[in-house]
Amino acid sequence: MESPIGLFGGTFSPVHHGHLRSALDICQALELSSVTLIPNYLSPHKAAQDVNAHHRLAMLKLATSISPMLSISDIEISSENTSYTVDTVRSFRAQYPNRPLCFLMGMDSLINFTKWHQWQEILANCHLIVSKRPGYDISDNSDAANLLTDYQTTDIAQIKSTLNGRIFVYEAHPLAISSSQMRQALKDGNSITYLTPPAVEDYIATHQLYR
Ligand code: ATP
Repeated sequence: MESPIGLFGGTFSPVHHGHLRSALDICQALELSSVTLIPNYLSPHKAAQDVNAHHRLAMLKLATSISPMLSISDIEISSENTSYTVDTVRSFRAQYPNRPLCFLMGMDSLINFTKWHQWQEILANCHLIVSKRPGYDISDNSDAANLLTDYQTTDIAQIKSTLNGRIFVYEAHPLAISSSQMRQALKDGNSITYLTPPAVEDYIATHQLYR
């Protein structure tokens, strides 16, 4: 079977090293061909962003340009509609009928996963690769624990040899960084240096975002 493809959806407002490093760690550990970061247009789970999709996309381009393992898709942004992961993974599945698809998410997202639109259908199209995130513990949440009972594998070979339907939990470099914490810092006039690549920091300053 060809190597799996990584997909990583999110709001990325703004992108930070927690996103980037976990994507890279997982890409290497699972020998994915690459990870495609997919910024949403409108998240079904979050209030509308005050920074528009094109700025979020531009920051992602700056952040990922230095890594050959990371790329970007504007599939959700160009739809100009609420972004449902099930639609996105279906579209990648149509494009790659015979390759394992791995959808990356942080533990906070897995904890809410059974509330996602058509979550069973998402698993029918891809695997979930979950990175542990400081402050989010599976044992606090019975829904997520049940999901792991039903779908977890600890065997990377199984992810590589099947197309979809498994959950793999990976301990990436734990980085307790969040976009909301960065937006608050910017609002308060505090520095975001070392939380995100310098090019993203410069872009935010030039365009006076998140003031
Ligand atoms: P916010 O603070 O606004 O909620 P966020 O930092 O969680 O934003 P998102 O764009 O919502 O960023 O996250 C996209 C995906 O990245 C989600 O699956 C989330 O769980 C994951 N993620 C975000 N930050 C981290 C981190 N520090 N470590 C691992 N995964 C993360």
